[in-house]
Parts: sequence; structure tokens; C-alpha cells
Amino acid sequence: MTTLLINSIYRATEGEGIHIGIPQIFVRFQGCNIGCVNCDTKDTWDFDPAFTQSLDEVMEKIEVLSQNLIKRVSITGGDPLHPSHIPSLVELIKELKARNYFVNIEAAGTRIVKEVFDLVDFISYDFKTPSTQVRTSKELMVKFLLEYGPKAQIKAVVADKKDFEATYDVFHFVRGQISSYIPWCLTPCYEPGEAFPMNRFQQVIQLNESFGLPFRVIGQQHKWAYGPSERLV
Ligand code: SF4
Repeated sequence: MTTLLINSIYRATEGEGIHIGIPQIFVRFQGCNIGCVNCDTKDTWDFDPAFTQSLDEVMEKIEVLSQNLIKRVSITGGDPLHPSHIPSLVELIKELKARNYFVNIEAAGTRIVKEVFDLVDFISYDFKTPSTQVRTSKELMVKFLLEYGPKAQIKAVVADKKDFEATYDVFHFVRGQISSYIPWCLTPCYEPGEAFPMNRFQQVIQLNESFGLPFRVIGQQHKWAYGPSERLV
């Protein structure tokens, strides 16, 4: 029997990236050892077997939330691309595709997982900015975009000018090797418990203007609508 480590399954209106505003079902995997210091889902880090669900249970929850109206699933985490998740993740995606779901995966930008990326419809690939204290390989990003660019976006959470400049440096490096358009989305950081960071948003918008408008600047809409600490929305 296929089993998965699942933190939560919920329906929400996409709050960030180029698909912002589209209602979909989120499947959040449990387990991540990447260690972003500003992670806002640290409760997903433990590979705790108490979060085990069967594939049938997961699909049933998705179908109930879908009501045959929402045929779109985003797989997130945690780190759904951790090697221990891959066999069950592949089974889940195959089942979703067999039932005509559009499947997006949120990738931390630390791995290219061919057996997963070949199956999904869209990949949101993170560039980890310096404030996360996790490094994204720019060479790996180029390799990823050469193969999967037509169905990808790059997403970076920006806390300050240093994060913006680091993102621009990698953008510049990648653009020197890949001429086709790939959306890069900058999300100004909005921490749980924090008041809406208007100044940070304005700073990111102004930096983007001063650097020649290379990026789309997209906030996390669900945090505006429900507050930065609310989960499952
Ligand atoms: S990859 Fe995602 S879940 Fe893992 S530490 Fe980073 S932000 Fe948190």
C-alpha cells in the first residue's frame, strides 16, 4: 500500500506567484531538512510517522475538496522532493493526472527530480535568498531551466536590499545563458505575527524599478486576506 507523510490538505485561493488568485487544493508534505532560517512552516520539518496517510485517503480528501469543480492541485511542503518522499509522490502525481488534475509542485531549488518534473504541469522553483541562509546553485538553476523552463517560474522571498541584489545577480547570470522568457517572481517577506510590511513592499518595488524592471513583484495574497499567521488558507 502506498503511504505518504502529509501535514495538511486544504482548499485555498493561490496567494503568490504567477497563478495568484486561482482556487486550488494544496497538499502539504510533512518532512524537510533544508533549514531556511525564516521558514514560516517549521511544523512541517519533522519526518514524523504520525503524519502517515494512505494514497486512497489523500485522494479522497482531494476529491471532497474538489467537488469536481477545482481540478488543480499544488504540492508543497515541507520538502515534497526529499528523496524519502519520491516514490509515494510519483504515485500521487500519477493518480492526479489520471483524474485530469493540473498539478503544480513547489520545489525548494535544491534538486532536479526528473521522475517528478517530467510528470507535473508546472514547477515553481525557489531561489533561496541570503536571508534564508540556504544556498541555491545557479548552475543547477540553469540546468533546470534549460530542461523545464517552459513550465516553470522562479520564486524568491526578499527580506531586504541584500536579498534583492543577490537575486538580481543570479537572474543576470541565468539570462546570459538562456534567452527565452521565464517569469521571476519576487515576494516581499511577510513574517508570521508581523504587521503588514508596507515599507518592505515599497522598497522591493522601487529596487525593481531601479534595476530595469526584471521581476514581477507579487505579494502573498492569502496573508493580506487572513493575516500572516493564519494557516490552511
Ligand atoms: S524548504 Fe520550505 S519548508 Fe523547508 S525550510 Fe525552506 S521554507 Fe521551510
